[in-house]
Amino acid sequence: MSGIASRDTMPDMVMEIKYVDIHSHLNFPEYDADREEVIARMKEAGVATILIGTSLETSRSAVALAEQHENIFACIGIHPTEIDKVTGMTAHFSRENFEELVKHPKVVGVGECGLDYGREGNIDEKSKETQKILFGQHIDFAAMHDKPLMIHARNSTKDILEILAIKKEEYGEKLRGNAHFFSGTPEEAKAYFDLDFSVSFTGVITFARDYDAALKAAPLDRIMSETDSPFVAPEPHRGKRNEPSYVTEVVKKIAEIKGLEEGAVAQEILKNAVAKWNLVW
Ligand SMILES: [Zn+2]
Repeated sequence: MSGIASRDTMPDMVMEIKYVDIHSHLNFPEYDADREEVIARMKEAGVATILIGTSLETSRSAVALAEQHENIFACIGIHPTEIDKVTGMTAHFSRENFEELVKHPKVVGVGECGLDYGREGNIDEKSKETQKILFGQHIDFAAMHDKPLMIHARNSTKDILEILAIKKEEYGEKLRGNAHFFSGTPEEAKAYFDLDFSVSFTGVITFARDYDAALKAAPLDRIMSETDSPFVAPEPHRGKRNEPSYVTEVVKKIAEIKGLEEGAVAQEILKNAVAKWNLVW
């Protein structure tokens, strides 16, 4: 055995991480059949990702996967649309369960959380209020544990910014994070930046031009790249199941829209994600 490390003591191969997909759901059942292959492709492309919990169950599965892979991290929370599934309950953010999860060294943030007013923005007032309570619980929890927030907004950016501004006065620099799947105006992006939040863009920017203005106006150090896998695959994979390794296409497009060199953009986004989300591998 001399000179040969046993399998237990052999250090992991150090992979070179070049890209970050700050928001994916590799913990979802869509990957049950071939998850290890998807992760192998990530490693080959040099991609790290944060797996996002949307319920207690998927928060737990995100942490379990993060535990097994150096390039995977976890974010824990309850998606605002989950409240519709829990009739009559205003507050089912079970603190004890999340307390236990948040202590895990690979849990880097809280969310996704926020407000989802539906595709048409025609949600009823009671659900709106319930979502606001749940969102507030996430904000308090994140501040208490000094973690960034992963925000989900659908037709609700105005209310989210209003709530964050109020909470900012209470929590100061402890309140920070990222607005995922950003689809707002340059002004709304700026409001997020002023509150110490970044905004992340998905594969949608590869085939829709609605995001160009916000992207062009945003300083590079406030932009994050994401896939939101398994949803919205970028060109040239459009229509197929998305996966974190496709984040390279998102970064490429960010660079193109901003007229910058792709490698430099990848490096800057990674550097900022590592710093803001305390990613350690
Ligand atoms: Zn998501």
